[in-house]
Amino acid sequence: MKKITNNTPTAELQALDAAHHMHPFTAAAALAKKGARVITRAEGVWLTDSEGHRILDAMSGLWCVNIGYGRDTLADVAAQQIRELPYYNTFFQTSHVPAIALAAKLAEMAPGDLNHVFFAGSGSEANDTNLRLVRQYWHAKGKPTKQIVISRKNAYHGSTMAGMSLGGMAGMHAQGGIIPGIHHINQPNWWVEGGDMDPEEFGVARAQELEAAILELGEENVAAFIGEPVMGAGGVIVAPDSYWPEIQRICDKYEILLIADEVICGFGRTGNMFGSQTVGIRPHIMTIAKGLSSGYAPIGASLVCDEVANVVGEAGDFNHGYTYSGHPVAAAVALENLRILEEENIVDHVKNDIGPYLAELWHSLGDHPMVGETKIVGLMASLALTPNKATRAPFKTAPGVVGYRCREKCFGNDLIMRHVGDRMIIAPPLVLTRAEADELIKRARKSLDECYADLVKDGMFEAP
Ligand SMILES: *Cc1c(COP(=O)(O)O)cnc(C)c1O
Repeated sequence: MKKITNNTPTAELQALDAAHHMHPFTAAAALAKKGARVITRAEGVWLTDSEGHRILDAMSGLWCVNIGYGRDTLADVAAQQIRELPYYNTFFQTSHVPAIALAAKLAEMAPGDLNHVFFAGSGSEANDTNLRLVRQYWHAKGKPTKQIVISRKNAYHGSTMAGMSLGGMAGMHAQGGIIPGIHHINQPNWWVEGGDMDPEEFGVARAQELEAAILELGEENVAAFIGEPVMGAGGVIVAPDSYWPEIQRICDKYEILLIADEVICGFGRTGNMFGSQTVGIRPHIMTIAKGLSSGYAPIGASLVCDEVANVVGEAGDFNHGYTYSGHPVAAAVALENLRILEEENIVDHVKNDIGPYLAELWHSLGDHPMVGETKIVGLMASLALTPNKATRAPFKTAPGVVGYRCREKCFGNDLIMRHVGDRMIIAPPLVLTRAEADELIKRARKSLDECYADLVKDGMFEAP
């Protein structure tokens, strides 16, 4: 077979891709007709595709390339680790230096007494670990009926069976169903579901659904609550300020473990090292991945508090683990990523410089005729598109039709901005500069203008 490289013609690459590569979250037949966009290289916040376009990646890949593309020292560390010890496992009473060093570093960085790390290969796997961990914890505590985990509709916790079931994505649940023992309450999405309530009143009401669910299911049957501090894949849904304090109060009142899924929010995304610090909660377990290695190597983990780790640790074998738990190359890459994050004060840059700067620009998009709510926390942000800001009306077309059109305009303007239904979202690399933020907003506004003009022309700028 002929060698396939960055210089192979795009059409040839697309044909091979369509013939052999099954894409995640994709309608394969539709993509085969259109042809995938082939990315060939990247530097900083900029991607290059096989046609030579320079694209501003306002999604950090999939929310993960926090320190930006093209970092040489990560390549050096990976090469060195592959030469020294490319693989060894951490089963059977063995360990290795990268896993030890990364676990110790994470314990130092994590708030409270989250002093213990169980490694996984991804965020989904880490959430699988969490489900098994909390159930085993209650079993070991002599409360084996505490097995149910409460989560939220529209949450994203990954795509393995457990991750998908913990998540609240209806489209995923519809394909194959979910595992037992997971209960979903409503999300704190005021824009769509707030009705006539003011946001703070709505936030309390939505948090109190947790208490109602605990009482309905029986405290003796509930193991944990899991939530993203800011919902990412659900559309960058920022809960009203009243929401998380009430969730924390309810978890404290009942014997319920709190799991913060920090896969997106962790490592500076929200302007603090962890999203839990931004929303003021004290989780027993954190799920981490994505920004842990800035996507340079696949790795995830569960950060676990003293109480849970000790109880599970004293109960005998925890019959769980992955071949690649604590993979030495991924661990070494993650450590170097965290070193850069700290050395370059990137979290401070988000909190005190580029975050506030981008926020002002982002909110300025609120004057656009099709933009309703503008939300931003650190460097994750969303725009609700609407034909009527006053009533927060949806479009008369099916949810996502307008969002998709807007995303296509962004692609056309060499900007990666995603849509979730009719919400537009960004999560750019945390190293974004002010000039790049200006460029991002310029391209976003141009795309919104073009999308709006088309909608008006096509008679689609209308509520149902
Ligand atoms: C991406 C994501 C996951 C899943 O991580 P994978 O590495 O894709 O398995 C879990 N939780 C949240 C909040 C995520 O954003």
